[in-house]
Amino acid sequence: MEANDNKVITYLDSLVPKRNDIAAKMEKLAKEDNVPIMDLVGMETLLQLLRLSQPKRILEIGAAIGYSAIRMAQAIPDVTIVTIERDEHRYMQAKQHINEAGMDNRIDLIFGDALEVLEQVEQKEPFDLIFVDAAKGQYERFFTMYEPLLNDSGVIITDNVLFRGLVAEDQEAIEPKRIRNLVKKIDRYNRWLMEHPNYITTILPVGDGIAISKKRGETS
Ligand code: SAH
Ligand code: MG
Repeated sequence: MEANDNKVITYLDSLVPKRNDIAAKMEKLAKEDNVPIMDLVGMETLLQLLRLSQPKRILEIGAAIGYSAIRMAQAIPDVTIVTIERDEHRYMQAKQHINEAGMDNRIDLIFGDALEVLEQVEQKEPFDLIFVDAAKGQYERFFTMYEPLLNDSGVIITDNVLFRGLVAEDQEAIEPKRIRNLVKKIDRYNRWLMEHPNYITTILPVGDGIAISKKRGETS
């Protein structure tokens, strides 16, 4: 990323209104513990997309410490969220934060691997929006597994699809190999998504890259 871009991001960050105490506390914790919560500009973009589309029910894959789920619930007063986290420590932190934020009745936190809890989540369908923000190597599996739970006019948003800009680099030159393979997987996901017959997708170069996939619906 170029110095110029960083300046723009610093500028935009400085314009974002102050968050409330619980959100600020989670941002601080995430920084200290290296929890990859959504960055500020990405988060604000996601919230604005929600304000425009007014989903009633959201499924989130990858709760981490509960930051994005709480921010979404605070931004959209009548939304309910089902969110999945497989890391036990983060799950416990998320549970605590959701409780502190007074969101127990609106955020349903599931402990488990998203690839293994489909049956439990199926009880809670349908969803107006699915937010995919978990293991980057599994995006296509998350998408195909959960998209049947989406409403006809639903939206799937995938975070981190530009992976710090690495997808646009000379991929063969990326080291270490583990990262190179991950970059290639994300790149494949992006291409697969763009060509998906039932969804129309736009990728925003905001935050770490946000893909917005809108279901075409039965009639269009
Ligand atoms: N959405 C959060 C950040 C999520 S970070 C926010 O912006 O506040 C990604 C999280 O996904 C990590 O905590 C990781 O443990 C979790 N995760 C990764 N793969 C997963 C899977 N298969 N099932 C459930 N959670 C998963
Ligand atoms: Mg993310």
